[in-house]
Amino acid sequence: MRIVTDPLALRDAISPETTVGFVPTMGYLHEGHLSLVEAAKQENDLVVMSIFVNPTQFGPNEDLDRYPRDFDRDEALAREAGVDILFYPDTTTMYPLDMARVTVRTGADVLCGASRPGHFDGVLTVVSKLFNIVRPTRAYFGLKDAQQVALIEGYVHDYFVPVEIRRCPIIREASGLAKSSRNVYLSESERIEAAEINKALTEAETGLQTGVAVTAVKARLIERLDAIPNSTIDYVEIVDYPTLTEAHDTSQELLIAAAVQFERARLIDNVIWKRG
Ligand code: AMP
Repeated sequence: MRIVTDPLALRDAISPETTVGFVPTMGYLHEGHLSLVEAAKQENDLVVMSIFVNPTQFGPNEDLDRYPRDFDRDEALAREAGVDILFYPDTTTMYPLDMARVTVRTGADVLCGASRPGHFDGVLTVVSKLFNIVRPTRAYFGLKDAQQVALIEGYVHDYFVPVEIRRCPIIREASGLAKSSRNVYLSESERIEAAEINKALTEAETGLQTGVAVTAVKARLIERLDAIPNSTIDYVEIVDYPTLTEAHDTSQELLIAAAVQFERARLIDNVIWKRG
């Protein structure tokens, strides 16, 4: 595995005929990230992973400074998983002039975008830069961040970006808790309580499956999440996917999503319900 910090060196390392599977991350790797690598390995000659904690997707009062980082551990995990090139740039490299950024027009005012203004502008800005540096054939994103996937797909469509976006399933602990770098901030009891989030989402999915109305399913979901001790609901939403607009009776896919704030970690999780 090669570690590359310079965009031009990365370009030199990849021959134009090679198919490239790209896995962008913010590091502190877990099985969720590694599942994306596995998917990328199946379909491409070469796998490039990036590790970059992108400052522009964090709000002023968010956890940029204390976002978990451990490059040595990440390097070992990436190597073991079969990553060919690890791109590990610093902030000045990624934002040399910071003269231009990507702005999201629709779909950023709901769910995580409503609680984190500007977050998805930062995400699409960095993804756009990374796509231009890596020039991947395919890029792999986890449905753990379902809104992010929808907005990246929209961006790729709008900007005619020559890349295939692959949606990858959420990897969970045995308890159902979605794997996340931020889980490290949960206390032992919070970790047990946080497993309720997925149980409640699964129950909501069953509700939709059995024909319960969206409003009733949402109300019950709020009740269930409200009952989790030592936490507060940030949001609970059921929206059409991937448009992220109001859920309709005719929606083919509905995203049931929640964000719950524990003492030191804000957790997100979701289930996508497909009609029929
Ligand atoms: P992050 O490092 O949190 O920015 O995540 C990098 C990529 O890994 C994103 O595409 C995430 O959606 C994906 N990811 C994070 N957690 C999981 C998970 N539990 N299952 C699947 N993919 C995940």
